[in-house]
Amino acid sequence: MQGNELYIFLGLAVVVGLFFFLKGNKRPPAESFTCARCKKAERYSPRTIEAWRRGFSKIYCQACHKLWLNNNPERKKQTYTSGSARGGCLGILVIFVLMPPAIYGVIRYVS
Ligand SMILES: [Zn+2]
Repeated sequence: MQGNELYIFLGLAVVVGLFFFLKGNKRPPAESFTCARCKKAERYSPRTIEAWRRGFSKIYCQACHKLWLNNNPERKKQTYTSGSARGGCLGILVIFVLMPPAIYGVIRYVS
């Protein structure tokens, strides 16, 4: 029994470690970016890092982003729907976390 519990613990540790490794690894290559509209250099914020992760080639500085939101009010709703996409990502994580115990359960059931 002790050995099996250790196996579950190791499985969880690997999954969580991999998750944080992948999450931490996905960062922009530079400290700052050039705004696609006003060409001003600005440091990455959580918003612009998120945009960079999603593969946006045009990243706007804070001032231009606010201006853009004011000019595109219907786009704000899209930002909210992308929040559910993050929930889906979390769902995948939950599956990964639950997988080791599930595999353990199957092994126990078969043998
Ligand atoms: Zn700008």
